Amino acid sequence: MNIYKKDFPIFQNTSIIFLDSAASTQKPRCVIQELVDFYSTSYANVHRGSCDLANIATQKYENARQKVANFIHAPVKQVIFTKGATESINLVASGFSRLLKTGDEVLISESEHHANFVPWQQACLLSGATFKVVQTNKDGQLDIADFKAKLSKKTKIVSLTHLSNVLGVKNPIEELIELAHNVGAMVLIDGSQSIAHMPIDVQALNCDFFVFSGHKLYGPTGIGVLYGKKEALNQLPPYQYGGDMIKTVSIEETTFSDIPNKFEAGTPPFVEAIGLGVAIDYLSQIGMKQIETSEKQLTHYLLERLTEIPSISFMGTDTNIKQGIVSFTVNGIHPSDIAFALGKQHICVRVGHHCAIPIHECFKSSVSLRVSLGLYNDTEDIDAFITALKKAITLFE
Ligand code: PMP
Repeated sequence: MNIYKKDFPIFQNTSIIFLDSAASTQKPRCVIQELVDFYSTSYANVHRGSCDLANIATQKYENARQKVANFIHAPVKQVIFTKGATESINLVASGFSRLLKTGDEVLISESEHHANFVPWQQACLLSGATFKVVQTNKDGQLDIADFKAKLSKKTKIVSLTHLSNVLGVKNPIEELIELAHNVGAMVLIDGSQSIAHMPIDVQALNCDFFVFSGHKLYGPTGIGVLYGKKEALNQLPPYQYGGDMIKTVSIEETTFSDIPNKFEAGTPPFVEAIGLGVAIDYLSQIGMKQIETSEKQLTHYLLERLTEIPSISFMGTDTNIKQGIVSFTVNGIHPSDIAFALGKQHICVRVGHHCAIPIHECFKSSVSLRVSLGLYNDTEDIDAFITALKKAITLFE
């Protein structure tokens, strides 16, 4: 029995086997309790009140920013709260759509989530820049030779996932960032999937931007993070306009606040940010290195058990390089039928294209089943899943 399961009320209140943490993680009791306590005792809007409640709320919100900054090793003013990874990427891409021009190039990869694909495609359409996509090998790895071939002095931004939400493969981002910087390009790393599975140090990575969502990090929904280097953030125009992001407003002209406020127009999702701060406290007590090590062992066990089933085809054939996420199809049976049969046995997995149609096209499949791990999973969950999967397969064979 996993020792962390008891920290998550959902596992006391239901009999589910939850293997869909890549979509969103379950919440520990401390995060749920913080939301209840904050709304019950300390709630007032941030950055504008004069009473104690407002001051406490502001302090807690800014303290949450500090916790995020410590967690990813970022200077605190370079941590911007958004409502999720999707909004963080849109913020950067929409800024670039005003900075790019014809002749410039944007480079992403085939294994991106639509959140890191569509905003860049649109930014290119708006600006006249060229949209380029690096290939993924059959084993699930980004094709470095293709990356080098497509990268040039024309490349202004490279935007890549850290850990693929379909293949479970980690990109060698340190090497890719260095290659991109050598031609003068900036780099955005989509850390939506890596953030919950490994320690992150944005300054050691030397990326220009790093994004993730709180709900995949055991925190509440509606909160996300954009980290950026100071000069990278300063060159971007504001994403939204309104209260809390201005220095001065007059009929003639408006001037904008410095970062991070420049990018936080309106009432921010501060309760959610405070909840995320508590999730980070919880994870920090366990230690991200420890989480990474045990999840790697569990992924290995999951793959070992899955390979017992000969009719399985993996998305990304190299099973040794997967971390926490495994997608596959079963020959001759539609993934939705299997997911339905698993659901009937209280096993939660994901079925569909997982918001990543281009990578499914590479693997000549429109949909797949995805199993993804969280810190609360254990070998008993995997055994229950494999038994249910084998049963489902015999039903449809
Ligand atoms: N990128 C990746 C790799 C993801 O897995 C996801 C969520 N599935 C996102 C971006 C978007 O995250 P959100 O929906 O929380 O904005």
